[in-house]
Amino acid sequence: MALIVQKFGGTSVGSVEKIKNVANRVIEEAENGNEVVVVVSAMGKTTDQLVSMARDISGTPSKREMDMLLTTGEQITISLLTMALIEEGYEAISYTGWQAGMQTESVHGNARILNIDASRIQAQLQEKKIVVVAGFQGSDANGEITTLGRGGSDTTAVAIAAALNADRCDIYTDVTGVFTTDPRYIKGARKLQSISYDEMLELANLGAGVLHPRAVEYAKNYQIPLEVRSSMERESGTIIEEEATMEENLIVRGIAFEDSITRVTIYGLPQSLGSLSTIFTTLAKNRINVDIIIQSMTAEDTTNLSFSTKSEDTEAALIVLENNKEQLGFDRVETESGLAKVSIVGSGMVSNPGVAAEMFEVMANTGIQVKMVSTSEIKVSTVVNEKEMVKAVESLHEAFKLGQHAKVLA
Ligand code: ADP
Ligand code: ASP
Ligand code: MG
Repeated sequence: MALIVQKFGGTSVGSVEKIKNVANRVIEEAENGNEVVVVVSAMGKTTDQLVSMARDISGTPSKREMDMLLTTGEQITISLLTMALIEEGYEAISYTGWQAGMQTESVHGNARILNIDASRIQAQLQEKKIVVVAGFQGSDANGEITTLGRGGSDTTAVAIAAALNADRCDIYTDVTGVFTTDPRYIKGARKLQSISYDEMLELANLGAGVLHPRAVEYAKNYQIPLEVRSSMERESGTIIEEEATMEENLIVRGIAFEDSITRVTIYGLPQSLGSLSTIFTTLAKNRINVDIIIQSMTAEDTTNLSFSTKSEDTEAALIVLENNKEQLGFDRVETESGLAKVSIVGSGMVSNPGVAAEMFEVMANTGIQVKMVSTSEIKVSTVVNEKEMVKAVESLHEAFKLGQHAKVLA
């Protein structure tokens, strides 16, 4: 007998019919003699609709009340799925995140899980019940309701799998696995049989929405193999594990992209030793996430500094900079919005110094201007014009032969 955690995302539970389908997939695992814990998201676009209702009331809704509102979405799904299981003659029980023992930081909207007291889930499994848990939610030490950030149900599932020492964690979604790039945008995208935790973590952090980055982090830390697969089709999915099988010495495994990026440039910073740290400490204290950073000296012995942010954070970043202008000692700030980040990821890059050069060549040949660059051992990210994002991904996908068989090392 194995202990299995199954997670079903929003589209997979988008209607009552789909919830019945999910119940059947759960029952199959139970019928195979397994103990099953199921984690579900809110139905279809429920979370988006709740966000939009809140915005119709306030431009800056209270973060506490947002969490109170958004967690209702998952609560609808757990009860309906549990009813469907009971209707089919199975013993099942639903739990909200706090009932399931998900203890988080005291942060609204993007809390990290601190601990899981899985005793209640365990007791129900002992009673031979299927346990259905609401994803994306928990509570802090004061009993306040918190959420884990958009897409956070994946993290609930993996964290529960870790806490229960589960044998498997299967993430059911609306695609048949992890692809070389988002199959909704790029027709030639190909499903991967396997991918390493590190590569998946980079892709997820760089915009591949198929998995919540913290879910991959958890899976790596606790060495839980994940399978991403379809809730509708029967075919096997993509395994995320420590060492993915190298497909013919693959250099680039996948391409991630993200729109709504803004470049902020600060002109005329004094060239003192501490000026960089002061700027970024000030931004960090105000919880502004900064991504790619480029520094350049000027002839006047001052420094110009550019960084990229998500466009939604730009206004807050500008306010922070303006409020601290005197202390930071810069001349002026300019922004360029309407940008996107396109990144190639693959563990084969570590030993292949020419990959970034090849990426830039492809961009140049396609007539795409690269505005910012950042690299790590297993990724190269570029910032380009948002209008050219899909074209950039298509060209790179083709050039690195990701659609057919992988590019072979020279
Ligand atoms: P769920 O509601 O099941 O959590 P999500 O919408 O969060 O589903 O994630 C699935 C979506 O992720 C797919 O529909 C696809 O558009 C997107 N996606 C982005 N990058 C990739 C990729 N590399 N492989 C597969 N899907 C991807
Ligand atoms: N319902 C939440 C969201 O839409 C969490 C999730 O789906 O994972 O972001
Ligand atoms: Mg998701």
